[in-house]
Amino acid sequence: PGKKVLIVYAHQEPKSFNGSLLKIAVEELTKQGCSVKVSDLYAMQFEPRATKNDIAGRLHNSEAFNYGVETWEAYKRGALSKDLVEEQKKVKEADLLIFQFPLFWFNMPAILKGWMDRVLVQGFAYDFSKAYDGGLLQGKLCLFSFTTGGSKEKYAIRGDIRYLLWPMQHGIMHFCGVKVLEPHICYAPENVSDEKRKEMLTAWTQRLKTLWKEEPIGCSPEWYFK
Ligand code: FAD
Ligand code: ZN
Repeated sequence: PGKKVLIVYAHQEPKSFNGSLLKIAVEELTKQGCSVKVSDLYAMQFEPRATKNDIAGRLHNSEAFNYGVETWEAYKRGALSKDLVEEQKKVKEADLLIFQFPLFWFNMPAILKGWMDRVLVQGFAYDFSKAYDGGLLQGKLCLFSFTTGGSKEKYAIRGDIRYLLWPMQHGIMHFCGVKVLEPHICYAPENVSDEKRKEMLTAWTQRLKTLWKEEPIGCSPEWYFK
């Protein structure tokens, strides 16, 4: 109780399976006494593009635009665009970040990737020599909860789905100092029976009940590539 959770959600349709997973997380965590915020990226029409518009006022170097440098400078002088500042505030407050999305091309949807690109600014999420275990978002947990089109069996044949999580969990979250909980994967909700879908939703509720007792994964190459 009292824990703060931010769910960053990337699905267009509230009636989707992802929408149901979101609803369950909000209900269950609220019931536990957590304070839950949702960034519903499509509903917010969240801007995924990393452009000059993210910096208010004069650029640090107007001769040649460098997004990383300009957002870092803008962060320091409080000149990042309002939508970014709002997301950073939610991240800063949160004890746990949950990312809820359908897998797109072995990756997260562009709108969510855009959230990562734009919100996790240098100076805010990491800095020189403040990365990985020393990242600036230390003390927080994250959990990638996603759905697939492919079945569990197909993923087992083609290779471990953990490979796909290396850029997301290690390259982004661990880089920023966030500890990673086991991912939650619902395989092929479109192609299973309604009964199986209900089972998957119940399993998510059950997992959330004991989530705060979980240990983070050892986020190093061995976890991903054995
Ligand atoms: P939905 O279609 O919304 O849901 C499935 C079913 O669940 C629906 O019938 C819905 O009515 C039902 N449902 C919703 N809520 C409930 C409830 N409470 N109880 C019972 N039933 C319910 N897949 C891969 O595996 N790898 C890829 O690389 C990949 N790339 C993709 C790229 C793109 C651009 C796109 C569009 C898709 C890709 N996919 C890929 C497929 C994608 O991951 C799946 O379509 C998606 O994960 C399914 O989730 P959903 O929430 O959209 O399902
Ligand atoms: Zn790692």
